[in-house]
Amino acid sequence: MNRIILTALSVILTLNVMAQEKIVQTAGRDQLGTFAPKFAQLNDDVLFGEVWSRTDSLGLRDRSLVTITSLISQGITDSSLIYHLQSAKRNGITRTEISEIITHIAFYAGWPKAWAAFNLAKGVWADGEGDGGAAGDAAREAFQREMIFPIGEPNTAYADYFTGRSYLAPVSREQVMVYNVTFEPRCRNNWHIHHATSGGGQVLIGVAGRGWYREEGKPAVEILPGTVINIPAGVKHWHGAAADGWFAHLAIEVAGENTSNEWLEPVTDEEYDALEK
Ligand code: MN
Repeated sequence: MNRIILTALSVILTLNVMAQEKIVQTAGRDQLGTFAPKFAQLNDDVLFGEVWSRTDSLGLRDRSLVTITSLISQGITDSSLIYHLQSAKRNGITRTEISEIITHIAFYAGWPKAWAAFNLAKGVWADGEGDGGAAGDAAREAFQREMIFPIGEPNTAYADYFTGRSYLAPVSREQVMVYNVTFEPRCRNNWHIHHATSGGGQVLIGVAGRGWYREEGKPAVEILPGTVINIPAGVKHWHGAAADGWFAHLAIEVAGENTSNEWLEPVTDEEYDALEK
């Protein structure tokens, strides 16, 4: 029963995400707007604005896969392949997957084309991923395969307010802001308060793995895929992964007046370790 509800929730969330994708592309106008204005307009408004944006028919990840395959098969290994490899990575294709994809293409499109593509892909998937080491990368990629939302990019903007490494992927940037937040094992954010003079607060929905939500003065609450946590404005709390695995939750900002976040002290190892006993 639970599983059916979770699956239904996943479908609803996936459809919402897909329905909201609208690709904004300016590369055509930036590079060819003066020389070939019609080509630029077709590139930006039709190829990206219409075809790529039809994400309810075929998702961005799949469109990336098809595009990469087409380019490599033709031996196009210039800046356009780099662009599409970068966007494939943003669209959730992991390092393990691109390695497998190009290996597969090699047999159908040609060995030298795969070599050329690998040389570019290595650079794209190496960016900013050196700190976790090969084992960390493999664990993160394995976690990605069990999750419908992308892990996204290292959460550098808020790194000062986290213990351990976290990652951020925007799921919705319009109407209601929704982020998928991924935590490596033991990673958690500092104690913090979502302030607002009315409304405000935050909703968390567990996506994959196991995590914790802790409100000051109350016992910690376990977050599993599908768990919904309602955090009123003004309540001091933290959230993060359990000690034994990766964890991700959606973070949804609740609209309010004069909203702001107040970041407080880190959750100590003693406090954190006490949870699992
Ligand atoms: Mn919070």
